[in-house]
Amino acid sequence: MAVDLHVHSNVSDGVYSPRELVLMAKAKGLKAFALTDHDSVQGVPSALSAGDEVGVYVIPGVELSTDIEDAEVHILGFYIDMSSTCLHEVLATLKERRRERTAKILHHLKALGIDIPLDYVLTLGKEGFTGRSQIFKAMVNLGFARPEKRYGDFEKYLGKKGLAYVEHHGLSPKEAVRFIRDSGGAPVLAHPGTHIPHGFIDELIDFGLEGIEAYHPTHSNETTRKWLEFAKSRNLIVTGGSDFHGGNPADAPGLGSLPVPDSTVICLTQRWLEIQAV
Ligand SMILES: [Zn+2]
Ligand SMILES: [Zn+2]
Repeated sequence: MAVDLHVHSNVSDGVYSPRELVLMAKAKGLKAFALTDHDSVQGVPSALSAGDEVGVYVIPGVELSTDIEDAEVHILGFYIDMSSTCLHEVLATLKERRRERTAKILHHLKALGIDIPLDYVLTLGKEGFTGRSQIFKAMVNLGFARPEKRYGDFEKYLGKKGLAYVEHHGLSPKEAVRFIRDSGGAPVLAHPGTHIPHGFIDELIDFGLEGIEAYHPTHSNETTRKWLEFAKSRNLIVTGGSDFHGGNPADAPGLGSLPVPDSTVICLTQRWLEIQAV
């Protein structure tokens, strides 16, 4: 039995529908998983009902993209309250900003001789979701880029230092933490890697951060160990997941493929209940 607390569906940039993911989780013998789509919770209701149906514990989640100077900071929110009005308002604003950003990126690409209509990109995302993965898909479909990671076309055009890159103006990390708390959830810093300073995390803790995603496919054993120690020193909970998107099996680890301890779900749930009780 295993758990996976970081999974994307086709509601954001994943390949499989929320329901398909639940069935896959069941087939793999997963005990629990969290659906954590980018800036969207629209897949949560169908994941929850499929989970009830087949007996997989589904945690409603979200992953918010935020930016600091040189790095992307992602904040996961677990046990989001789907009835929160502030939740839907903020996510609608973020969706609109994603759309504006996509239009700007397409403008830059056009100047580079890559002409892709916005309407076409919008057809590639579910529920109006748009991001760099949909733009890249459009580039591939129209013959402007090769899909394989090894050719580096994604990085060349759409990566943080890419030719057509445009900053995503989402929430600041502090706003994201606060917003998840206001929406009834437990905020967790996603895949901190090796570049996020401890002092920065301490500031987020003051805003209500409750955990660190120590287990992530981009983390070496050493990195995971460091974050486990850090979490202990700050009384933060620990989470982890495969960050599964589907797609090319060579590019990404499979659903439930990371050895995340079952205890993470118990600690997360306990901490969330404690937050609720305050
Ligand atoms: Zn992320
Ligand atoms: Zn993710």
